[in-house]
Amino acid sequence: MILVYRYRVKSLNGLLNRQARECNFVWNYCNDRQKDALRFNRPWLTGFDLNKLTTGSSRELGLHSGTVNAVCEQYAKSRSQKKRPYLRYRGKRSLGWVPIKGRELKREGDAFRFAGNTFRVFHSRPLPEGKIKDGTNFSRNARGHWFLNIVIDLSVDTANARRPVRGVGIDLGLKEFATLSTGEKIEAQRIYRGAEQTLAIAQRANKKRRVKAIHAQIAHRRNDFHHKLSTRIVREFDYIAVGNVNAKGLARTSMAKSILDAGWSSFRSQLAYKAVKHGAWFEEVDEKYTTQACSGCGAISCNSPKGRDALGIRQWICAECGVEHDRDVNAAKNILARCGRASLVVGIPVL
Ligand SMILES: [Zn+2]
Repeated sequence: MILVYRYRVKSLNGLLNRQARECNFVWNYCNDRQKDALRFNRPWLTGFDLNKLTTGSSRELGLHSGTVNAVCEQYAKSRSQKKRPYLRYRGKRSLGWVPIKGRELKREGDAFRFAGNTFRVFHSRPLPEGKIKDGTNFSRNARGHWFLNIVIDLSVDTANARRPVRGVGIDLGLKEFATLSTGEKIEAQRIYRGAEQTLAIAQRANKKRRVKAIHAQIAHRRNDFHHKLSTRIVREFDYIAVGNVNAKGLARTSMAKSILDAGWSSFRSQLAYKAVKHGAWFEEVDEKYTTQACSGCGAISCNSPKGRDALGIRQWICAECGVEHDRDVNAAKNILARCGRASLVVGIPVL
């Protein structure tokens, strides 16, 4: 499994700023050559072609040759991924970026060594053993902080996979951020709503740095909440099923703010990678009709909440089997039942 570990860099920021400018220069050079190719009807340039064109430039630019290559390769890759004839130029407004080749980065205690320099970082968590891959880079955020993003290949140890004994289904929502099939409800945090006022004050006063800091703080607190919850769930359960609720479709409705506040997809991806890392099983299941079907008998009863009007229905009684349901717990139970692992091991029939 490929993971990215991110560390804040605490030394040599000036060097990185300078290198980022040179990387932009290489990038813009690639863009110019691509435009030439278009103008003169020549074949479009691949990463390999661009590498050949920039050979020998690294010393003059003060960059590592691997960095020059990585910029060229990324340019060609982005261009073909975005299906564009050419890309935007990188300039002062672009966030700083210095890509490096994975093999050039070496560990040195709590720091990292690259191209003759030692980069000290806030060593927030240890980097696991594994091969450091290409795609590793230094990047600067909007606040001007530099980060080292290390792409690392962790070969998953299938031998340490847990026996799937304890399972949980998770229904993601707005009022409750998550409802577990065990009946536990985890309340949503109104992080954005809480910070709205301070944000508005800073915006009116036109304090740009303050606005950026508040946005960063919001993101940070949401992330922290997701990390704590996902870690706890992976510790407690061996297999985890989550509904595939889609934020994009809902973000255009009147509930947009709450939905953007929730960050379901980042939470799901955290669950997925933590599960794999700790030998648990993770599955994303289709959540269609999970609210409507009865988790006891499987019937879609006439009483069950249906459609948008039924958002207010929290409790209902199944007309077929008479069981009383909490709306979200019922959905979570259905999600758990739909997960392939549950039907295989525990023998719950798939709905
Ligand atoms: Zn029923």
